[in-house]
Amino acid sequence: MTGPQVRDYIRTIPDFPREGVMFRDVTTLFADPRGFGLTIDQLVNPYAGHRIDKVVGLEARGFILGGAVAHRLSAGFVPVRKQGKLPGAVIREAYKLEYGEAVMEIHDDALRAGEQVLIVDDLLATGGTAGAGITLCRRLGTQVVGCAFVIDLPDLGGRARIEAMDMQVHTLCA
Ligand code: 5GP
Repeated sequence: MTGPQVRDYIRTIPDFPREGVMFRDVTTLFADPRGFGLTIDQLVNPYAGHRIDKVVGLEARGFILGGAVAHRLSAGFVPVRKQGKLPGAVIREAYKLEYGEAVMEIHDDALRAGEQVLIVDDLLATGGTAGAGITLCRRLGTQVVGCAFVIDLPDLGGRARIEAMDMQVHTLCA
């Protein structure tokens, strides 16, 4: 059985959000019932039959994917958000951007020590966001079983950075 693959549903928008950036737009993937279904099937596949207590989604597209993945794995869903968005008590982790830094947060009671966690996001670039997510989950005493992304931009070094954290990386296309 062939037909369009996950990568075929993703479009690239030049010069967004600023000149020189080729932005991978996954809204066209999410909007297509077959494309979205394929994506969730392929994200879930390596973890089916494994114990996953919580899926942690990274803001914002990781929420859309993570909710569907969590349902399929019979897991709960927990958001990691940009600074200032979560209403309860949080722990935070800062990481470097090209210019300046960003901060990600998680509710300090969202995960329990010993839980098995899968981190989900749409795209792995430098790995800064996912790295902060892993660190937050580990600080709460969980075991991060893996990190799953739709798109890998290998030239930006994210996979190497995440693997150096002793973490398995699962991606669907480059
Ligand atoms: P990193 O922290 O790995 O450098 O960047 C990854 C984060 O930025 C992810 O949360 C991802 O959603 C977002 N991101 C960066 N570039 C793109 C892009 O071209 N397309 C999409 N959809 N997300 C991007």
